[in-house]
Amino acid sequence: MRRKKIYEGKAKILYEGPERNTLVQYFKDDATAFNNKKKAVIEGKGVLNNRISEFILNQLNEIGIETHLIKRLNMREQLIKSCEIVPVEFVVRNIAAGTLANRLGMTEGTILRRPIIEYYYKNDDLNDPLVTEEHIEINNWASNMEIAHATETAFRINDFLIGLFRGVGIKLVDFKLEFGRIWKNEDCKIILADEISPDTCRLWDLKDEKKLDKDRFRRDLGGLVEAYTEVALRAQSISDSMRSIAVSEESPALAEMHDHVVSGHAILAGAAHVELGRAVAAQLVCSTQGDAGLCGVTFSAPLVLKAGASV
Ligand code: UDP
Repeated sequence: MRRKKIYEGKAKILYEGPERNTLVQYFKDDATAFNNKKKAVIEGKGVLNNRISEFILNQLNEIGIETHLIKRLNMREQLIKSCEIVPVEFVVRNIAAGTLANRLGMTEGTILRRPIIEYYYKNDDLNDPLVTEEHIEINNWASNMEIAHATETAFRINDFLIGLFRGVGIKLVDFKLEFGRIWKNEDCKIILADEISPDTCRLWDLKDEKKLDKDRFRRDLGGLVEAYTEVALRAQSISDSMRSIAVSEESPALAEMHDHVVSGHAILAGAAHVELGRAVAAQLVCSTQGDAGLCGVTFSAPLVLKAGASV
């Protein structure tokens, strides 16, 4: 039986977690823009965002920035700490783009003299308005201390991510963060929540400034899955053999293979490998790139795999 749904947003669903104070965060393929006015389903987007966000949040956890991520569970889900989301979006910008360029008449691509932060009140009915620290404080959306801590953390994350992306030939133009409160007895602290992915960042190729983010959807540029795959591959959050698998993973067996390919040391027995073979054969047929991979998977019984074959 499916777990209890706690909340459904535009790109993710939260389910009750297996333990107290945990939730399961499910990444959907739904893409929305302009406060839900533009909508589409882009097959494979959720799988890629799950991987990319896992990769980035793990790195942040490793440098001492606490996040809600406990671990990735499967291709679409993460186990996370349950927290009370602060209803403010923290947007950090390095280069003028999007609403900053539009609102202030700045040329898109202008490098800002220093990184800046903006606060937006998370409220669809009000169209997520730009707000000041005082607006946040007088409405009790967050305390001054919480804003200061989240702001400092946002700039630290920016410094780290600029370097991380630059190392793989990508410019970090801007991104959005969300924070949440968790309690231990009487003590409350603020941790990073939500996701960091091409859905929530602007990422441009260093050389030709090709957009590798959600602007491909917002501006009808096409090739969103290819762009997100490029980010995932460069960030090494997926391996090359997963390029096409990321796009179609309806079969649980295929999802299983996905994990085995990554861990690279699986031995699959009996029915599991037959089921897996069937899924991969189907995948090879529907994959436009035809490069579903089986590296690192050892079968405990012989398996002949042919594209289109019924195993
Ligand atoms: N952003 C986001 N969710 C939002 C609004 C913005 O993830 O609800 C991200 C967006 O992807 C971009 C950055 O925050 O990387 C700045 O977005 P902007 O204010 O330019 O607005 P947008 O163009 O997203 O409407």
